[in-house]
Amino acid sequence: MKSSDYPMISVAEAWRRIEAQLRPLPPTPHILAGAAGLVLAADVVAAEDIPPVPTATMDGYAVVAGDAQPTRTILAQQAAGSADAPPVTPGTAVRIMTGAPLPAGADAVIPFEETTETDGMVTVAGSVSPGLNLRPPASDIGAGQTVLAAGSRIGPPEIGLLASLGQTTVMVHPRPLVAILSTGEELVPPEVTPASGQIRDSNSLALAAAVTEAGCTALPLGTVPDREPALRSAILDGLARADGLLTSGGVSMGVKDLVKPLLAELGTVHFGRVAQKPGKPLTFASVGGKPVFGLPGFPVSSLVCFENLVRPALRLLAGHIALWRPEVPVRLTHDIRRDRERLEFVRATVDAIDGVLWATPTGAQASSRLASLVGSDALLRVEAGPDYAYAGDEVIAILTNRPERASR
Ligand code: AMP
Ligand code: MG
Repeated sequence: MKSSDYPMISVAEAWRRIEAQLRPLPPTPHILAGAAGLVLAADVVAAEDIPPVPTATMDGYAVVAGDAQPTRTILAQQAAGSADAPPVTPGTAVRIMTGAPLPAGADAVIPFEETTETDGMVTVAGSVSPGLNLRPPASDIGAGQTVLAAGSRIGPPEIGLLASLGQTTVMVHPRPLVAILSTGEELVPPEVTPASGQIRDSNSLALAAAVTEAGCTALPLGTVPDREPALRSAILDGLARADGLLTSGGVSMGVKDLVKPLLAELGTVHFGRVAQKPGKPLTFASVGGKPVFGLPGFPVSSLVCFENLVRPALRLLAGHIALWRPEVPVRLTHDIRRDRERLEFVRATVDAIDGVLWATPTGAQASSRLASLVGSDALLRVEAGPDYAYAGDEVIAILTNRPERASR
């Protein structure tokens, strides 16, 4: 098939085809200490109560609440970490520190501030109600309770919760390893001064950063010229080592655009053109059961395709349930000429003014102009049409610096 033979499909259809090919990577056990950022592959059920016994939440005296006597004999002191104080009975008290277990018989803690202590006796100002200043058993977590659901991203509170339950190994989806390959005769590494006709390979580093930011591990393969044997072996090498591959360049209709035909030869191309701007030639294939995204060469096109379709795909591989950035209606501060055929993702900043969200495009939207992405915090969905989206019109903004949710 020639590159131009691929039918143009909608962005929504492109996602459906991507989603149909992908499953979360198979679960593996992982030590808790390094699990931040990964996704739980199984529910976590508490095996014990937290706290297991009633515990003081203030420094003070453990007493029997119903005891009417204002002055009580101090039997002992219980600090956090010990549990050997004698039982408390009416007329007695145990000096207790925050976090220490309540001695048997006690059912309240009177803070130091509300007492006076002289000669081994403590005097309490007012009356005390049972349960005061203590955490009842299982008040944080009860044994048998599902504390974290499969699909939860493990962050600092989840790590803390798992550690408190003694879960030092967790079942997770592994962090996807993603190979990155830049294609093009014209490319030189960023540290090299380009000769006439050459340009610096900026996509390798930009895509590696995007892959890392998406919670995956980037495996940069460098650049490969537009020659079939070299490209074929680079693609196969990348796929042998990684869970998926991103290529940039070589998917347009030029004579040197070899990526689509090669992917068709090596595997199955699920789509080769998408009705979007930028990113029309975006290509998605499976080779040996692994996903390959053929991203366009233009730097903005490759990053916008990454944000809209590759990032959710990588998150799906990583086991996330939350795949979608929040989308909100915004008003345009400027007129935008619509593309006649393609949905356009306009780079913009969004600001709230008097309770209304206003979106301002970040200047010229050329797909080579990375400055249009720098500092932008939204992609505006400007639907295809004959004329303009006008200043004051409402469009949908994808908030690209907000965490993903389960639904759009
Ligand atoms: P292509 O899709 O290969 O036709 O590339 C389109 C344009 O994107 C090229 O003319 C380059 O200007 C640019 N380009 C391609 N690859 C890269 C890259 N790795 N880094 C920066 N720019 C690139
Ligand atoms: Mg090229």
